[in-house]
Amino acid sequence: MRIGIIDADLLYRKRHRFPNLACMKLSAYWKEQGFETELLLDYSQAGEYDRLYVSKVFTDTFVPEHILTRETTVYGGTGFFYDKAPVLPEAIEHHTPDYHLYDQMVKEHSEGEKKKKEFQFYTEYSIGFLTRGCFRKCSFCVNKNSTGAAPASPLEEFYDPSRKKLCFLDDNFFACAGWEKIFSSVLETGRRFQFRQGLDLRIMQKRQMELLASGKLDNGMIFAFDHIKDQELIVRKLELLREVIPVSYQKIKLYVLCGYDWEGTWKADFWAKDIRDVFIRIEILMRYKCLAYLMRYAAWEQAPEVYKGMYINLSRWCNQPAQYSKKSLREFCTGQGEYSSCFRYLTAFEALHPEMAHYLDMKYEEVQYGKIYG
Ligand code: SF4
Repeated sequence: MRIGIIDADLLYRKRHRFPNLACMKLSAYWKEQGFETELLLDYSQAGEYDRLYVSKVFTDTFVPEHILTRETTVYGGTGFFYDKAPVLPEAIEHHTPDYHLYDQMVKEHSEGEKKKKEFQFYTEYSIGFLTRGCFRKCSFCVNKNSTGAAPASPLEEFYDPSRKKLCFLDDNFFACAGWEKIFSSVLETGRRFQFRQGLDLRIMQKRQMELLASGKLDNGMIFAFDHIKDQELIVRKLELLREVIPVSYQKIKLYVLCGYDWEGTWKADFWAKDIRDVFIRIEILMRYKCLAYLMRYAAWEQAPEVYKGMYINLSRWCNQPAQYSKKSLREFCTGQGEYSSCFRYLTAFEALHPEMAHYLDMKYEEVQYGKIYG
C-alpha cells in the first residue's frame, strides 16, 4: 500500500515553516507497518495513492473539495474540525514522529545559512506535547472544551537525541499537576528548549520561574497577556519574574491578543477600546523590559478601516523587536514615509482619538522601569 501525506498548511501558506506533528506520526506508524509513505508537495499526484492523509492546523487553509471527497482520503486536524477535532488513534498518537518526512522538501528549499534557519523546526527540533489541555476555557480557543492540563507524551516518546533542540506545543504546561517531574526530564537532556505556545504567567510561582530560568531556554521566555482584566495579576507576576531574571535579560516576550471581544457584543466602540487595551498592555510590558508580540484574532479584519490599519501598524512595530525596542510607534510609522499607508492610518487614528496620542510616543527605552499599579 502506498500512502500519501499532505500537510495542507505547507501547501497553502507560503511562509509556513513548521512541521505537522500528526503527519509525522502517521508516517512513522505506517512505515513501521512496512508501508511506503510520501509527503506530497502539491495535489497533482493525489490520485496515485492507496490512501491519502490530509491534515491542517489552520482553519483558513484551503484544501480542494475533490481531494477531501475521494474515497481513499482521510482528513483531520484542528484546521478542519477546530475544537471538535477527533484525536488520533492511540498507536499513532503515541508513536515517535518520523522526523525525516520533510527531508526532500527541506533539501530543495533550504540552501544557504539564512534558509537553513528558516527551516530549523524541520531539522533541529524534537517536537511534541508533554502535556495537553488547559483549565481556562477561553471562548476563542481550540481548547475551550478541555477540562484541564494532563500528561500527554513522556519526553522519550518524541525525543530524538540526534536533534539539538526541543520544542513543546503544550497548551498550559504549568497547570499540569505533574509538571515538576516532567520538567526535570527536560532539564536532564541538557538541550535547548522552548514552549512554543507560551506559558501561563498568571499561575506561575517563583519556584517554577526559577526552574524555567535554570534551563537552556531557546528563544527566551514566552508568556501570554491576553486580557486587560488580568493587568494587576500580570504586573505582580512580572515583579516576581524580575526578581528571578535580571532586567538586562530582555528575551521575555508576551503574546498580546487583540481583535477579540471577550464580551461577545461587538459594539461599535469595541475597536477603539481594544486598541487602547493593547497600548496599556504594551506600556506594562515596556515597564518590565519585555517584548510584546501582537496576536490578531481573525475578526480584526472586520474592523473599520482606520482601526484595521492600526492593527497592522501595531503588529509590524511590535512583532519586530528591533523596531519596538528602538522606536516609538510614531517614529516607526513616520519612518515608512508620509505617503505610506502606515503613516496615513496613524494620522487618521490620532485625529479620531487624540486621547491616545501619548501612547504613540511611548518608547521602550524611555518608559520607566517598574510597577505602576498597586
Ligand atoms: S489559557 Fe491559553 S490554552 Fe488555555 S484556554 Fe485560554 S487561550 Fe486556550
